[in-house]
Amino acid sequence: MSVLKMTELDLAGKRAMIRLDLNVPVEDGRVTSDARIRATLPTIEAARDAGAAVILLSHLGRPTEGEFEDQFSLGPVARHLGVLLNQEVRLVTDWLDGVEVSPGEVVLCENVRFNPGEKANDEALSKRMAALCDVFVMDAFGTAHRAQASTHGVAQFAPVACAGPLLVEELDALGKAMQSPARPVVAIVGGSKVSTKLTVLEELSKHVDQMIVGGGIANTFIAAAGLPVGKSLYEEEMLDQATALMSNSDIPMPVDVVNATEFSADAVAVTRDVADTTDDEMILDVGPQTAAIYADIIAKAGTVVWNGPLGVFEIDQFGAGTKALGEAIAASNAFSIAGGGDTLAALEKYGGPDTRSIVHRTPLEIENPPG
Ligand code: AMP
Repeated sequence: MSVLKMTELDLAGKRAMIRLDLNVPVEDGRVTSDARIRATLPTIEAARDAGAAVILLSHLGRPTEGEFEDQFSLGPVARHLGVLLNQEVRLVTDWLDGVEVSPGEVVLCENVRFNPGEKANDEALSKRMAALCDVFVMDAFGTAHRAQASTHGVAQFAPVACAGPLLVEELDALGKAMQSPARPVVAIVGGSKVSTKLTVLEELSKHVDQMIVGGGIANTFIAAAGLPVGKSLYEEEMLDQATALMSNSDIPMPVDVVNATEFSADAVAVTRDVADTTDDEMILDVGPQTAAIYADIIAKAGTVVWNGPLGVFEIDQFGAGTKALGEAIAASNAFSIAGGGDTLAALEKYGGPDTRSIVHRTPLEIENPPG
């Protein structure tokens, strides 16, 4: 794929606005895991050392648009970044009307998701962002699939838009996996909703030999197969699309599921045959038999593309399917790419040397679990 790269541009004296993924866990005003911040350092340093005035953008968590909430402030990230860069990184709170920044300086704009219109990719908001820079650099692969003002809209209106080094690395890895992949190619698409990943599902279904669906997405497929889903998260309006995908691709149905009657950390998990979900239950993970079937598929794969968890992994009782999947990918010899949604959050949660090997093999992105 041919894209304009940041490294090809002369940034001297330019205002370079770089969209990063600095969505890291913060507790009591401190960053508790800085892997994602460290990953962005080469990009920031390259722009700064080229003589750019560096304006950084990122989201953090999922705040309500239009409302400042301290827990979602990028203040702790600015401080942490300043230590790593060994120079002050000023947090700019009201930045849409103008950002003061000189060449060689690095400033971080407050959470893009505080701005009304960010999620809706609002044109007026995108134009205000674009007006702040000479060059817009997209380097947040994790949010590149979302058409939002700070990822998509701004790139349309900026004088110049280009891809940052991390994004280029991701695209190269994806290109390698997709152009001449070792077969069979297995894609796992988990997460909450079919509607947000329909394009991904449709596109992948054309290229992969087998597709595993997980999470709320799987629930929609389970419902489309005529099986009970009780009170599960699923999308009735996506049933036709799910049926079409199942008829065109090899998508194994879960054979067992882990259910609960409430969505909470104290919920009692019950493992059932996929046909036995009761009206008052929610399907919150795949069961152990299903996890074993998926692990077997992955053991035989040449290439694995993984996007999104198989269950509500933030709650331990519903994390076993995602954990087993991460372990199966780590143990396989397949070329693996993991990313999107909360995939790295899942990898971070289950950690260990095996899952870290996935991180090494592939550039990754994540978002924090919803707060
Ligand atoms: P996404 O952002 O679309 O990748 O979705 C990730 C979110 O989906 C995570 O926060 C999971 O907790 C959630 N999720 C996964 N499985 C389910 C499920 N069966 N029911 C409800 N939410 C789920």
